[in-house]
Amino acid sequence: MFQVLSCLCIPTLLTFPSLADSPIQVYNLIMSQVRLLANLQTLDTQLDNIRHRLTEIDAALSDHSAVRKAAARAEKAAAALTAARLALKRAEQEVQTQQDKIDRNQQALYGGGKSPKQLEELQMESGALARHLETLEERQLEALIASEEAEVADQAAQENLASTKSQAAAENTDLSKEQQQLMTEQAALEEQREAATAGITTDLITEYERLRKARLGLAVAPVKDGACTACGAELTAAQAQAARSPSKITNCVVCGRIVHG
Ligand SMILES: [Zn+2]
Repeated sequence: MFQVLSCLCIPTLLTFPSLADSPIQVYNLIMSQVRLLANLQTLDTQLDNIRHRLTEIDAALSDHSAVRKAAARAEKAAAALTAARLALKRAEQEVQTQQDKIDRNQQALYGGGKSPKQLEELQMESGALARHLETLEERQLEALIASEEAEVADQAAQENLASTKSQAAAENTDLSKEQQQLMTEQAALEEQREAATAGITTDLITEYERLRKARLGLAVAPVKDGACTACGAELTAAQAQAARSPSKITNCVVCGRIVHG
């Protein structure tokens, strides 16, 4: 009973036959304003999401850091392998040089025609040469192990670079495809948006845009279970009823957004 009385606008206006045309037009206009604003908000939310995703895609497409990092690691591993192979070659040469010295010592030792003193000296030298050969051979073995490890690391880094490159290429193909689809969708939505704004008054559009800027892109929010779905504020019975009325522009008392439904 009381609820009927509180529905002021429409029944009151319709009770004056002489003014019926004008109020009905006003009613239709206001009704369509609420509906059009809600529709506009839906389109803008979709457009915002698309723009956000397009920005992410742009950033992802221009981000070559994964490939760059893998390439740097591969380059470092290749340089380490070159250095390890060089060190091994040097160690092998040192062993060979020492071996040659030992051979010469042995030839002199067993060649004959030496005094006992010379033989003693050659014998001592032989011992020293053999001890140093052991050290050099140990170094050679270490260099060989280091070289083999560097080879394994280099192969892993090269494989990682190849797979990172192919993964990036596949991702970029997917992203470019998504980008194209979104841009097509965006163009269609922008056309719909233009049509949607055509029927809304300039003042309301200005208010709507102001709210969008001030309220994280959301100017119009539906009411659910008696509360503003944007901020969660509970509406009083009168506010909820006003929000249900297609003939009124109702703002949430807490967040200020236009609430409806
Ligand atoms: Zn609210």
